[in-house]
Amino acid sequence: RQPLKTLVETARRNAARFPEKKAVVCDGRSLTYGQLDTESDRTACALGVAGLDKGARVAYLGKESESYYDVLFGCAKAGAVLVPINWRLTSAEIEHILSDSTAQLIFVEQEFLATVEQITAPLPALSHTVVLDGPGGPGGGFQSWKARNEGVLETPVADSGDPVVQIYTSGTTGLPKGVVLAHRSFFAVPDMLERGGLDWIDWRKDDKSLIGVPGFHIGGLWWAVQGLNAGVTNIAVSTFVSGEALRLIRDMGITTTCMVPAMLHMLTSEPSASPEAFHTLRKVVYGGSPISESLLERCHTLMNCDFAQIYGLTETGNTAVCLPPEAHSIGGSLLKAAGRPYPGVDIVVLDERGAEVKTGTVGEICVRTPARMVEYWGLPNATAETLRNGWVHTGDAGYMDDGYVYICDRLKDVVIVAGENVYPAEVEKALEQLPAVAEAAVIGIPDERWGERLHAVVVLRDGETATRRELALDLRGSLATFKIPSSWEFADHVPRNPSGKILRRRLRERFWSGRERKVG
Ligand code: ATP
Repeated sequence: RQPLKTLVETARRNAARFPEKKAVVCDGRSLTYGQLDTESDRTACALGVAGLDKGARVAYLGKESESYYDVLFGCAKAGAVLVPINWRLTSAEIEHILSDSTAQLIFVEQEFLATVEQITAPLPALSHTVVLDGPGGPGGGFQSWKARNEGVLETPVADSGDPVVQIYTSGTTGLPKGVVLAHRSFFAVPDMLERGGLDWIDWRKDDKSLIGVPGFHIGGLWWAVQGLNAGVTNIAVSTFVSGEALRLIRDMGITTTCMVPAMLHMLTSEPSASPEAFHTLRKVVYGGSPISESLLERCHTLMNCDFAQIYGLTETGNTAVCLPPEAHSIGGSLLKAAGRPYPGVDIVVLDERGAEVKTGTVGEICVRTPARMVEYWGLPNATAETLRNGWVHTGDAGYMDDGYVYICDRLKDVVIVAGENVYPAEVEKALEQLPAVAEAAVIGIPDERWGERLHAVVVLRDGETATRRELALDLRGSLATFKIPSSWEFADHVPRNPSGKILRRRLRERFWSGRERKVG
């Protein structure tokens, strides 16, 4: 069989192979592969009737649902570019995305309509609003819009280099930027794996795949598309609630999923988490932020299945590096690695002058991958800054050793304590190894003498007690003295974004108000 190259081929081929098989299930509603193809044809057709030409931007503001995938494939067939929006954003942030993307149409769930209506800035390009739910229940408004815009489908021929989604990411600086991804971003990795004789995803036709990360993030969308390409049944959750996810895993017999470490942490901390509850799982893929060894051990014990770690950015079209299940079973120091680049992906580590560093030396990770972004939408300077001669400059500090990539932290999060670089992620991981600590976040705060010092926000496990002094003493076994926080606070949670990343900027705000933090 020919490898798939575009989302249009995915929809067509799987509808022909197993029209009756469920493609996406969400909250008791579902679409079979046959329905996904015919419904997305109708969506594409309605987009055409509404006057959206090839390259038009189409926004989507709603929770996970089967409609999201109908719209994704509809846009792909119409040649439009889907702009998924994180529904947790404020009205001002949503305004930035709608205005910057020049979206001409927005699909919006009733629940978020008021947020869109609060936008006062003119959005001259936005000429259509389709409320997804509404009369007739979930998907009702969307269905009646399709019915009002029936027509003859004119399909532009999709090419693997055509833009298909535009995902907003905050990246390292400034306002969120629209990362334009072409079809090939979703197909390059399986293609490279196949050509390299590897297959870590190893889909089976009876797999049931849980989409844990929301589809407005590259991690969630990429995983969902992999499951749809493979023709398995994908289970979406409108919003991730760990108790509900655990129930789904047990009751639906989920066999595989992709989650960020924060989700795995919540899932395995559920009171009813047990090997019994997870017994159908055969493979768990994780990535998106660092994982502590204690969490990985807990997952191994409770889930007793294969694990694979992935590393990548929206700009690299998601995963560029993978730590496959075999490396997990070897254990030991390899578990500190994010993985090895796929065959066909190159990684170099550069110092601040742009020279390649020696093995084992920390620098900026740069990635060359066929899955990389096309550009930042409308930002040629930012594109040229990140994408240099085909290399994505990731903004991540890390190093290579024996072919493996190790990620330290974001360069912008590095804290310089008396001239020594400290990567907060390393301190957080060490804290999370302590039995009393459930979660931790570490930031740099201003210090008269040293420039910056470390501040830790710690969430203790239920029923545990520990003082700042005890925690600092416990860290001495694993960290150099300058890496031990000098300022502490206890909290009931660590603020994170939906892809599980610690919102360090938010934690830093109250310490740096009115002052510029020099980025390390
Ligand atoms: P936003 O969250 O606003 O979308 P972002 O730039 O953080 O912005 P992503 O592109 O999803 O969004 O995140 C990419 C970053 O996630 C990487 O640059 C890296 O810092 C982190 N990351 C991804 N995978 C891993 C991993 N396996 N281990 C450690 N960090 C990881």
